[in-house]
Amino acid sequence: TSSPAKSNGSFDERGASDSKTMRIKLVLLGDSGVGKSCIVLRFVRGQFDPSSKVTVGASFLSQTIALQDSTTVKFEIWDTAGQERYASLAPLYYRGAGAAVVVYDITSPESFQKAQYWVKELQKFGSPDIVMALVGNKSDLHASRKVTVEEAQEYADSNGMFFIETSAKTADNINQLFEEIGKRLPRPATTQKS
Ligand code: GDP
Repeated sequence: TSSPAKSNGSFDERGASDSKTMRIKLVLLGDSGVGKSCIVLRFVRGQFDPSSKVTVGASFLSQTIALQDSTTVKFEIWDTAGQERYASLAPLYYRGAGAAVVVYDITSPESFQKAQYWVKELQKFGSPDIVMALVGNKSDLHASRKVTVEEAQEYADSNGMFFIETSAKTADNINQLFEEIGKRLPRPATTQKS
């Protein structure tokens, strides 16, 4: 029999026999200013506080969630720490990532274009079984919307991503984003106890 895929070793093998916790490296991508840091702070701390951005850039933050199938996922979230201005992030940033969140701002067509660039980067450097989410952030600013749900959904569908609109400001769909990623992660092999 063939052994089930282990998804770039990103599962927590040490705890595999006594828990169903999956440890997942998640990388954030997207233009500067689209709200990446705010999304992480909303998810991890339940706050909307753009001024604490510095603390995110310093390293990664982690957050654990429990899914309905009693799987626990520990996300280790890597923010670009402002390096998105460079043409390409170091391959080290993508290495071992089990999930990627590509963010744009629904009021900025430029940021949607840039998101497509990051998706290509992921297709080049990321693992083939990485779970990719396309996120239209700042959904609270719908009155100034410039990117339609239809075009984003179509782009996501044709690139094997799932699509969701969020607001770090109002917290809309932030938890749902991470839950959806968790649901789509390949499950680790069932450990057989003797
Ligand atoms: P990053 O450069 O992608 O990390 O972006 P930040 O998280 O620093 O956010 C950039 C700016 O967008 C800040 O001024 C935030 O207040 C604002 N922002 C972030 N998320 C939202 C959102 O969901 N709605 C609105 N209205 N503003 C947001």
